[in-house]
Amino acid sequence: MKLEHLLLKDFRNYSAFEMDFDPGVNLIVGDNAQGKTNLLEAVIYLGSGKSFRTQKNGELIRFDGDFADISGQVFSQERTQTLRWVLFPGQRPRQVFLNGVKKKTAGDIAGVFQTVLFCPEDLMVLKAGASARRKLGDNALCQLRPNYEAALLEYHRILEQKNRILKDRFENPSLLQILPEYNLRLCQVGALVISYRARFYEGLGEAAEKYHKMFSGGAEDFHLEYKTVSTVEDPFAPVEVLTGQLQDHMESHSRAELESAQCLTGPHKDDFDVTLSGLSLKAFGSQGQVRTAAISLKLAQRSLMAKQSGQMPVLLLDDVLSELDPGRQDFVLNQITEGQVFISCCEPGRFTKLGKTIEICKGQIVK
Ligand code: ATP
Ligand code: MG
Repeated sequence: MKLEHLLLKDFRNYSAFEMDFDPGVNLIVGDNAQGKTNLLEAVIYLGSGKSFRTQKNGELIRFDGDFADISGQVFSQERTQTLRWVLFPGQRPRQVFLNGVKKKTAGDIAGVFQTVLFCPEDLMVLKAGASARRKLGDNALCQLRPNYEAALLEYHRILEQKNRILKDRFENPSLLQILPEYNLRLCQVGALVISYRARFYEGLGEAAEKYHKMFSGGAEDFHLEYKTVSTVEDPFAPVEVLTGQLQDHMESHSRAELESAQCLTGPHKDDFDVTLSGLSLKAFGSQGQVRTAAISLKLAQRSLMAKQSGQMPVLLLDDVLSELDPGRQDFVLNQITEGQVFISCCEPGRFTKLGKTIEICKGQIVK
């Protein structure tokens, strides 16, 4: 998958932008607030109809503009195709076109042009709390497996109902009669969630290990371990076995759950741990190691997506260079040879051997 050409009209701070891109690396340089992230946002929007910064399409229209136009020519599914979005202010619905034909929804263009973004917030995910890691894993897995997304939504729906029962039973004790039913469903769907996650994290860890080795010049051994409910001996076991083990854990916490009025056991508390050459990254990793490992994970996610769709999604790395040492910067700039990559950075003087450099100033290309 490649973005060959992009045209923007009144998108964010771009009044008029037009550019051909390199099939390899596109390094976007410029001072703060010149439009580097805006450009990456446009590339992602082109393929998904979603912004990672706002839910309000109106914010994407340039302050003085009447409407925004994002048009791109992409190479995908073995041919050149065009995508176009037109966004209007107020209530007027946006429009989307694939190869000049108007489509109803973003779902109609799904899979034509896929991107994977790595942004500064992702850099510290391996040091952050478990919920940030769960979110990262769940987002990636939901993209890969729609059936997992359905199971996860169902799990959270039952979990919420169970929590409500635990809270409301003080006023309405008869609610406790329906609790066992919810517990069983929660364990059944939870077992399915664990089963998906075990396979996903295994694949993700193997791919990330390969990237991290290249990234660190062979110096560090990356290992990812999926962590779930303690009674689960083997997360790859059949779903029925997992269900029983989740029930055991739930049983042993039933008193505590009633006392605290919340559900204390299940895969909604899952996590994963990364070790580098045997040392936990969360406990002992340096800033650079944590950042590098996070980028390796993103590269791994992208390669899993490519395995599934047969096409390598475009990788967007927003502002990740500054905290890396020269060797690791060199990896990002000059050694990601798979597929197309966009890298934004503020430092002038950076260059890539694998493509071209584009300098941006106030929403314009510096010639
Ligand atoms: P940094 O290096 O700080 O990350 P950047 O080059 O990535 O900077 P962007 O986030 O791409 O910067 O652009 C930010 C600029 O775009 C801001 O100055 C903001 O005012 C401007 N901007 C955002 N939305 C709009 C809009 N709808 N219309 C006009 N300008 C906008
Ligand atoms: Mg930025």
